[in-house]
Amino acid sequence: MENLIIIGTGCAGWTAAIYAARANLEPLVLAGIQPGGQLTTTTEVENYPGFPEGVMGPELMMRMQQQAEKFGARVDYQQAEKVERRDDGTFLIHTGGHQMEARTIVIATGASPRHLGLPNEKDLVGHGLTSCATCDGAFYKDVPVCVIGGGDSACEEAVFLTKFASKVFLIHRRDELRASKIMAERALSNDKIEPLWNSVVTEYLTDDKGEMRAVKLKNTVTGEESEQEIACVFVAIGHVPNTQFLEGLLDLDDNGYLLQKNGSTATNVPGVFAAGDVADHVYRQAVTAAGDGCAAALDAERYLANLEG
Ligand code: NAP
Repeated sequence: MENLIIIGTGCAGWTAAIYAARANLEPLVLAGIQPGGQLTTTTEVENYPGFPEGVMGPELMMRMQQQAEKFGARVDYQQAEKVERRDDGTFLIHTGGHQMEARTIVIATGASPRHLGLPNEKDLVGHGLTSCATCDGAFYKDVPVCVIGGGDSACEEAVFLTKFASKVFLIHRRDELRASKIMAERALSNDKIEPLWNSVVTEYLTDDKGEMRAVKLKNTVTGEESEQEIACVFVAIGHVPNTQFLEGLLDLDDNGYLLQKNGSTATNVPGVFAAGDVADHVYRQAVTAAGDGCAAALDAERYLANLEG
C-alpha cells in the first residue's frame, strides 16, 4: 500500500512529489505514457520566478523531476485509467493491466488542447493540423500557416511560427485579442503575422493526398464566407481538463474541472487532492500549478497524519 500516489507530471505533479518526498512519504508518481505537462510542448518560459534569463519548458520539467527523485520520489510510466474508492477509505488505481493501492492520491493530470470539433479534425492531426508549434513549426518552412485563437497561447505560437513560415494568419472569432498586453503587442507588431478578425473556421479543406490545403472561414459579423490557403493549422483555443478517468468518483464542474473544497486542494472524496490545471480554469500558470502541487502535498501529509493520529 502506497502512502501517496501522484497522478500527473506537470508543474503541479512534480512539485507535489518534491514536497511529499521531503516529508518522507515516498510518493509514487504515475507519469503516464506521455510524461511531462504542457511545458514540455512550449519553448522559452519567461515568467517562472527565479529564471531572469528565461528557461526552456522541457528543461524546467526535467529539473523538477530530478529534484523530486533526489528526495526519494519514484516514477512509474503507467497511465491511470480508473480510480476506485474502497470501503476502508483507501484507493485502487487501475492502470493498463495493473492495480495499485494508495492511502491518498493527488490528481495533477492537467489539461489537453481543445479542438474545434470539425468532422475531419482527428484525421488531419499529423497531416497539417496540430496544437504544438514547438513540435511541428519547423516542418512548415516558407509556406503560409494559420493559428486559431486569440489568447496568450495563440500569440505565442504565432510569433514562434514566424521563424519558419512565410506568413502566419491569426484567426480570431472577435476583433480583440484575449492575450495579455505584452503578448498581443508582440504578435500584432510582427510583420509576418496577419490577424483575421471576427473569423471562424468552418471547414478544413484538404488536397487529393488528404493533407491540409486551406481553411474555409466565416465572418461572424457579415456572415461572408472565404477560403484561406495554408499548409498547416495550429489550434490554440484553450484546454480541456484531463478528468475523464475520474468520472463517477469526484465532483466536477460543468466544464469537467475538478472541484476543490474549503479553500484547500481537497476534493469531495476524503484522501483525494487536486492540483494544477485539472482544477484551475482561472490562472492556469506554471507557477500557480506548482503552488497548488505544494499545497496538495501538504494537505495529503496532514490527512495521513490524522489517519495515524
Ligand atoms: P485562453 O486564454 O482560454 O484563450 C483561448 C482563445 O481561444 C480565446 O481567444 C478564445 O476566444 C478562443 N476560443 C476558445 N474556443 C474557441 C472556439 N471554439 N472557436 C474559436 N476560438 C475559440 O487559452 P490560452 O491562450 O491557451 O491560455 C491559457 C492560459 O495560459 C492563460 O491564462 C494564459 O495567460 C496562459 N498562457 C501564458 C503564456 C505566457 O505567459 N507566456 C503563454 C501561453 C498561455 P475568446 O477570446 O473569444 O474567448
